[in-house]
Amino acid sequence: MHLLWETLTDGVYRCRLTFLDVTVGLVRGTRRNLLIDCGTTLSEATQIADDVVGITGSPVTDVVMTHHHFDHILGSAGFGTAVLHSPAAVARALTTGIGHVRAHALRYGVDPDLLDQAIAGVRAPDHTVTAVDLDLGGRSVHLELPGAGHTDHDLVVVVPPVGADRRTVVFCGDLVEESADPAIDTGSDLPAWPRALDRLLELGGQDALYVPGHGAVVDAPFVRAQRDWLAARTSPG
Ligand SMILES: [Zn+2]
Repeated sequence: MHLLWETLTDGVYRCRLTFLDVTVGLVRGTRRNLLIDCGTTLSEATQIADDVVGITGSPVTDVVMTHHHFDHILGSAGFGTAVLHSPAAVARALTTGIGHVRAHALRYGVDPDLLDQAIAGVRAPDHTVTAVDLDLGGRSVHLELPGAGHTDHDLVVVVPPVGADRRTVVFCGDLVEESADPAIDTGSDLPAWPRALDRLLELGGQDALYVPGHGAVVDAPFVRAQRDWLAARTSPG
């Protein structure tokens, strides 16, 4: 095993990449293995791909990319013919917008050679998503855009439990962060962000495990507190 994987519930895992502490999620079905986000470089992708075979006995068949930031999408070049799912904005970022993605990654210190190797292999996603359920065999997952926030197209993945007494898992992308304050930049929609988190809480419920794009797994009260922190930043005065 190259990376440290946490088991969140039956067949649902996540690891935290060393570079930028990016979360990569994994949901194992009987027919398909779904990856949620995929890191920045081909070396990260190769380690993830190897580990998925180690954990599940079969390769990644599907990759979901939550939003267009480089650390969540450029590793998609390393998963062969896996089916790629993303919001339309990610498709634009991986094609006509790749120069902007490259510049953003360089500002964060990504090695230029590793960056260009990944960029040479990226392709447009196979499916653009607004809301869909994916059947992985024995379980299905729900993909949805709960509303603008960190970006104008944050996609979340809701994984219902397969057995009694198990917990729903919600992969939040960067709508939720634990290892730092939420990343607000020029592409963020601060006034809308609390509403997106309301929808996220509605999707997951009070007892879900919420997996942030960066940082430790949190619970509904943490998400609610982050929602209130964001709401306070937009309030007058
Ligand atoms: Zn981001």
